[in-house]
Amino acid sequence: MSENMYRCKNCGWEGELKADHCPHCLSSVHSEDSEGYECLGTLQPVSILVDEKGNWDIVSRCSRCGELVSYPVREEDNPLVLLSIASRPLAMPPFPIEKTEELTLMMGGQGDMEGYYEQGN
Ligand SMILES: [Zn+2]
Ligand SMILES: [Zn+2]
Repeated sequence: MSENMYRCKNCGWEGELKADHCPHCLSSVHSEDSEGYECLGTLQPVSILVDEKGNWDIVSRCSRCGELVSYPVREEDNPLVLLSIASRPLAMPPFPIEKTEELTLMMGGQGDMEGYYEQGN
């Protein structure tokens, strides 16, 4: 067994770890918090962040201390898991989807996006 062998505490994936996170479920270990204290909680992916160069970062929340940490996506990362994280806010909007029309009306549109742009927003 190579010393690089890693067993993911989150999903049980085992293999050679090339990055700082599990390529299967994209979770990581919170080695230390922003103040430099050892934490060792599990970082659970919650969102995807796109930086100014268009690179994807995984945003994870620590299950132990609640801190948010981001780390770059790697080539070997599971694309299905990445996409499911990226689309999560769309799949679960914080309001009922039927409310969308009502919301655009509230913003001064006619319930479609045309009216919204015509007003120079
Ligand atoms: Zn994992
Ligand atoms: Zn933590």
